[in-house]
Amino acid sequence: MVKADRVAKSFGALQVLKGITLEVKRGEVLCLIGPSGSGKSTFLRCINHLEQVNAGRLYVDGDLVGYREKNGKLYELHPREAAKQRRDIGMVFQHFNLFPHRTVLENIIEAPTQVKKLKKADAVTRAKELLDRVGLADKADAYPAQLSGGQQQRVAIARALAMDPKLMLFDEPTSALDPELVGEVLGVMRELAASGMTMVVVTHEMGFAREVADQLVFMDGGVVVESGNPREVLANPQHDRTKAFLSRIL
Ligand code: ATP
Ligand code: MG
Repeated sequence: MVKADRVAKSFGALQVLKGITLEVKRGEVLCLIGPSGSGKSTFLRCINHLEQVNAGRLYVDGDLVGYREKNGKLYELHPREAAKQRRDIGMVFQHFNLFPHRTVLENIIEAPTQVKKLKKADAVTRAKELLDRVGLADKADAYPAQLSGGQQQRVAIARALAMDPKLMLFDEPTSALDPELVGEVLGVMRELAASGMTMVVVTHEMGFAREVADQLVFMDGGVVVESGNPREVLANPQHDRTKAFLSRIL
């Protein structure tokens, strides 16, 4: 579902990604860990083409992200086509980014009605199903400010799912939450993974990584230092940088 082949990304002189190669198969969960500034968010943003890669190739569901390839040459996609690619990818951020002046239900039906041109009644039915799924069936008419952080994040997940994405990206979805609210969000993500969703999750929740992820990738300085089965990497890290990082966060 995601294939990165020597993906590189720079901001001016700063090379942030220095050749990331990895693969996430359909239905798999990949957890990405690494120190601050190692390029985790940048990599996620490349996957849904919020950033343009400078070198290497990135594929989502077989399609080259952001470019069209012709006779071995790459041509940038028109922004309209790039937006179309992005539509199939759900993203959940650390700060939930809900529209504050809209109700929970309105937040969820916004993109399906505006972007996918779904009929409002159909979007509402689907939104209610999704709210039920994230345990918030009774909050459809609430405003974001009336919800806890954990509830807001669950709404953000429902909102992303409303576009029927084939891939979900999570960028530290629980790190802005009070500790007692982390579990409810991880619970929703765990169920999503069990339902077969392909997911790339930047997180430092090692319990989640150990139990849910198929692959754990440790990034540092814009490269993949170590990756593999989460239980094995956590129990027996091979590289000094991985060991040092894990000893700081575990
Ligand atoms: P954190 O754990 O703090 O979220 P991260 O691993 O997600 O860190 P990134 O946000 O990907 O790291 O940033 C990697 C590097 O790229 C940092 O040095 C950051 O300052 C730089 N960077 C990110 N986005 C931009 C940008 N738009 N312009 C310039 N530099 C950027
Ligand atoms: Mg980040």
